Amino acid sequence: MRPLQFLILTLSFTNLLLATSVNVVAQNQAVKPPNLIVIMTDDLGYADVGFNGCVDIPTPHIDSIANSGVKFTNAYVSYSVCGPSRAGFITGRYSQRFGFERNPQYLPSDPNMGLPLSETTLAEALGKTGYRCGVVGKWHLGAHQNHHPLNRGFHEFYGHLGGGHRYLPEDLTLEDSAAASSENESYRTLILNDRTPVKTSKYLTDEFSDAAVRFVEKNKEQSFFLFLSYNAPHLPLQATPKYLERFNEIKNPKRKTYAAMVSAVDDGVGQLLETLKENNLEQDTLIFFLSDNGGPTTKNASRNNPLRGNKGDVWEGGFRVPFAARWPAKFPKGSVYDLPVSSLDIFATIAALSSAKLDEQRPLDGVNLVPYVRGEIQTPPHNAIYLRKFDQQRYAIRRGEYKHVVPVKGGKSQLYNLKDDIGETKNLALQEPDTLAELEALRKTWSAELIDPIFLGLIHLPSFQKKQTRKTPEKTGQKK
Ligand code: CA
Repeated sequence: MRPLQFLILTLSFTNLLLATSVNVVAQNQAVKPPNLIVIMTDDLGYADVGFNGCVDIPTPHIDSIANSGVKFTNAYVSYSVCGPSRAGFITGRYSQRFGFERNPQYLPSDPNMGLPLSETTLAEALGKTGYRCGVVGKWHLGAHQNHHPLNRGFHEFYGHLGGGHRYLPEDLTLEDSAAASSENESYRTLILNDRTPVKTSKYLTDEFSDAAVRFVEKNKEQSFFLFLSYNAPHLPLQATPKYLERFNEIKNPKRKTYAAMVSAVDDGVGQLLETLKENNLEQDTLIFFLSDNGGPTTKNASRNNPLRGNKGDVWEGGFRVPFAARWPAKFPKGSVYDLPVSSLDIFATIAALSSAKLDEQRPLDGVNLVPYVRGEIQTPPHNAIYLRKFDQQRYAIRRGEYKHVVPVKGGKSQLYNLKDDIGETKNLALQEPDTLAELEALRKTWSAELIDPIFLGLIHLPSFQKKQTRKTPEKTGQKK
């Protein structure tokens, strides 16, 4: 062989090798599932983000998730108060199926007061496929050690175990989380770094935003799932001058503090998005933003307009929430998705993308949203969206344009057409009895699959019941 021929042959072989290795890399990149970040706010009103029309509280960073991804206009959580809604999201299943239907009491000594160990969490499912999983912020799925995030599939935790927390570092004085003997005391515990109480120095929302950034920086070389679970803007209403002074034009003091709290969350979302950008992770990270339930408007001055009702209700204001998702690699930019979807779909979506193994005995209630968002499937993702509140025997069933409501225990069924009447003002039960009957039949079929609650909730505490007796009957309900 002449030297030139040898050189050409060698070069061709090298090119072939290079091309093959590039193909392998491309294939690996094509099948690598995205990172997942779920940003959940606590008691944020439907109308309190810019992408749903809010004008007095700018939320540019939260809005950028919707503007560079998908805004969902008919998105529901699976319950209208914190704990059960989170139990639904983290398992991808209606929590009424496994008896988590009340806000748990803060009882570190009670192993039954929390998410049943028989259920699989999203972190457990993703961890088995190699994801690194972290939760930052509010847990609220049980304060007993059995329910600690590190015992439920998460590798890292920076937050608090209970249903709410005080925001100012000087208020956090109780070192031992297990020693908190009441809900109020649990709001004052030190923040846990994994299992270790740590003294914090910043406004709590800023602490959580910093921890979220640290988690991404630390785990950027591998697939990760970050559940960024802000306790803001849940009570107590507390903010620092840095955020309050942005809202001097808001005269209602409650709304002003609430606005400052939401603004702090928006700053944190901005920091997190910037971290993804700096590390070239934007394309490969799927982000969901949502609230865990509707706004409790009279308590934290949130707004759910044009929806009827509040946190705790079976009206739309109870469980239709701000909801957006961004995945630049796959989701059409700036799109709007109007068919009903559920927070339960987050689990099903990432499970499909990551090929996570599922428990056949406990099927998911959600669907993989990707083909719907991309317009590859035109039919509705869900036959219906369901809500039961056991203690009040209240129900809501949403199918298509229609919603069937049992608003009070023993009350007559009502029917609304949400397309024409988003505020649920015109009861069509008498005009459209056939539709009502179909939805009632769905309700009965679904209810038959549920069990009774397996633990007592906050509503059964004497302190809660005392508060309720001072209220009018129509305002009673499970509120936290
Ligand atoms: Ca909540």
